[in-house]
Amino acid sequence: MSDDFRVTFWGVRGSHPVPGRNTLYFGGNTTCLEVSVAGTTIIIDAGTGIINLGNKIVGEYFGAGAKGPLELTLLFSHLHHDHTQGLPFFAPLYLGQSKLYMFGPRNFNNELQVVLEQSMIPPNFPIDFFHSNSIKNIATIKENNIIVLDTDDRTPRLLNKFYEKAEVQDSTILIRVLSDYSHPANGVFVYRIDHSGKSVVFATDVEGYQFGNAKLISFTKKADLLIHDAQYSREQYTALPTPRQGFGHSIPEMAIEVARLAEVKHLALTHHDPTIPDGQLKRNQTRYKRKFPNLLYAREGLTLSL
Ligand SMILES: [Zn+2]
Ligand SMILES: [Zn+2]
Repeated sequence: MSDDFRVTFWGVRGSHPVPGRNTLYFGGNTTCLEVSVAGTTIIIDAGTGIINLGNKIVGEYFGAGAKGPLELTLLFSHLHHDHTQGLPFFAPLYLGQSKLYMFGPRNFNNELQVVLEQSMIPPNFPIDFFHSNSIKNIATIKENNIIVLDTDDRTPRLLNKFYEKAEVQDSTILIRVLSDYSHPANGVFVYRIDHSGKSVVFATDVEGYQFGNAKLISFTKKADLLIHDAQYSREQYTALPTPRQGFGHSIPEMAIEVARLAEVKHLALTHHDPTIPDGQLKRNQTRYKRKFPNLLYAREGLTLSL
């Protein structure tokens, strides 16, 4: 375990935020993960959890005397509301000292930049994305891309993995991308971040397949931590008259199957269904730890060191 590579959960709910007394323990914000690696901050998804993260980042930046630009890398798994709706309230977006490197998928025929601009435009929101003060570097990426971050330089570089070989030094952070097609209607990106022999895979909004999701298992092989969707309970998944099969989310059994076959060390389940209260999630955690001992249900504020 090293403090040089940590993940912190800022939002662990799927679909929509759920404030209230039933979600105080696991939290009610939608998806956002902070990955702190070798002094660099990588954020995955901009659900409502990113609002508190942004406030913390800006507080620390000014608290430290604000020397130099504030550089952040922001990855999008996909562009559904529960993964983008915190962005208009993300404080670094409005700071002229912020340099934001954003990477994510195309949405049908629209590039990432267009989708983000359209999500923040009057009359839907009073400030348009274009006029926010941060310097933005936005790239639509594909599965054949690798993002390389050298910790001395901090500017992410985009490579084509079939064309260019990443030169890997001790300080290099590699971000790999997998396209998963189990989520309607445009699929999702799963990200794998490797640094100095440690790795984390973030697989939200994926649904398991019969015989296991082979592509995901191969991508996740021997990761130290797999963070995997487990929105539904087994009962919800098959319950009539509205079974959730085909909705693009998993049940814990599917996540455990990937974790076992990929031989990961630790498994964190996330994207909890908004209707499942804390008590039920705690009971489920106890139930599924019997099947995979190094398992936990992600909760807001939890930091794991890799
Ligand atoms: Zn989602
Ligand atoms: Zn989604």
